[in-house]
Amino acid sequence: MAGLSPVAARDAHDPQTLAFYDREATAYAARRSPKLNPQLDAFIGVLRPGAEVLELGCGGGQDAQFMLAAGLAVTPTDGSAGLAREAERRLGRTVRLMRFDELDETACYDGVWANACLLHVPTAALPGVLARVWRALRPGGVFAASYKGGEGDGRDDLGRFYNFPTRETLEAAYGAAGDWGRLDLEQGEGGGYDKVVRKWFFCTAVKAATVGR
Ligand code: SAM
Repeated sequence: MAGLSPVAARDAHDPQTLAFYDREATAYAARRSPKLNPQLDAFIGVLRPGAEVLELGCGGGQDAQFMLAAGLAVTPTDGSAGLAREAERRLGRTVRLMRFDELDETACYDGVWANACLLHVPTAALPGVLARVWRALRPGGVFAASYKGGEGDGRDDLGRFYNFPTRETLEAAYGAAGDWGRLDLEQGEGGGYDKVVRKWFFCTAVKAATVGR
């Protein structure tokens, strides 16, 4: 398929990062309560009630819980078995154990929510993963994701791998992934589990309503 890079599955995720989330699953899932954030608010706001949403890297399930309460039909997924179990406990429903590079669906979702998770995909593999997201969306579907900014692939002090992109790297990765009718990149600042304040990018992309791929 056009847009899907021939990156080997083993290159599209970092085992050390997934092992971290497995190890920390209980503490990580307890770290915040479900609450509205402006990006999630905006994402929910553009979708009709009952819209089908795929959540990537759902962590402890807080955002899924919020989206379900807002009337969206959410499919929560995560690549860490430990966190998928924690999210199942919170949500009282099945959470699909799935790495980003295992997403293999076509035109199934009105929205994809990927908060602070695709930041763990190595830069070289990011266009291929984004192409999978593009393919999974229906035409006109909305895709929201956030990334910690920086100067390229590296690890934090907890050993987690990040792509730490520049604005240009992100624009190039999205551009290579598919035809987007709209791509907005907002910049902000924020912390994380490691308590380090960094630059963040909040990306909203809308799959072109008429697609030629
Ligand atoms: N989205 C949640 C939130 O906002 O609280 C969790 C964010 S946490 C920083 C990153 C999440 O991505 C973890 O749940 C982790 O297990 C998941 N993750 C990391 N690498 C992954 C991969 N290759 N495939 C699927 N999930 C992955």
